[in-house]
Parts: sequence; C-alpha cells; structure tokens
Amino acid sequence: MIRTAEELKAQAKIKKITFYPVHECSMCGYMCGYVFANDWEAVGYDAGCDCTYGSQVEMRDWNSLAETYNMNQPERNPKIDQKFLDDLDKIWQFNL
Ligand SMILES: [Zn+2]
Repeated sequence: MIRTAEELKAQAKIKKITFYPVHECSMCGYMCGYVFANDWEAVGYDAGCDCTYGSQVEMRDWNSLAETYNMNQPERNPKIDQKFLDDLDKIWQFNL
C-alpha cells in the first residue's frame, strides 16, 4: 500500500523503529538503509561500508524514504516479491 511521508514518520515513532533496511551491499553484504534520530525528526541513510560511497551516514528526508518505500509496493511494482513485502511488514508493522 502506498504511504505518505507523514504516515511513515508517525508509524516509525509509534513503533520506535530505528532502522529501515533497504538493500545489502552487493560486494560485502552490509545491510544499508535508513536510520532515524531519537525523535524521528531527522532521517539519515547509512551506506554502511566503504565499497561505494564511503561509510558516512548522509542526511535524507522523509519524502525520500517514502519514495523508496512506495516504489517497492505492488501498486508501483506489480512484480514485487511477497516475501519482500512480508519482511517489510515486519519492519513497519502496519498490519500487526
Ligand atoms: Zn560493501
């Protein structure tokens, strides 16, 4: 289901989500993803390893996170794997 940046932000706060994994580095397997500040106002992206961009966490915003989230939803990507969606649900817990 498509979510707005505000919905995702509210959910992260409620569920106290600290990490939204996006993908594993193809070279070293490090799980890259979004990390959140203690108050969930600020969002960063942890590229994790030094293989591509270096290990710094770079600042992003909730709109960019929502864009990532939504492009992996069936409405935007009908071929998305159900296992992937199940794992995503475990992180975001919208359906629990
Ligand atoms: Zn790597």
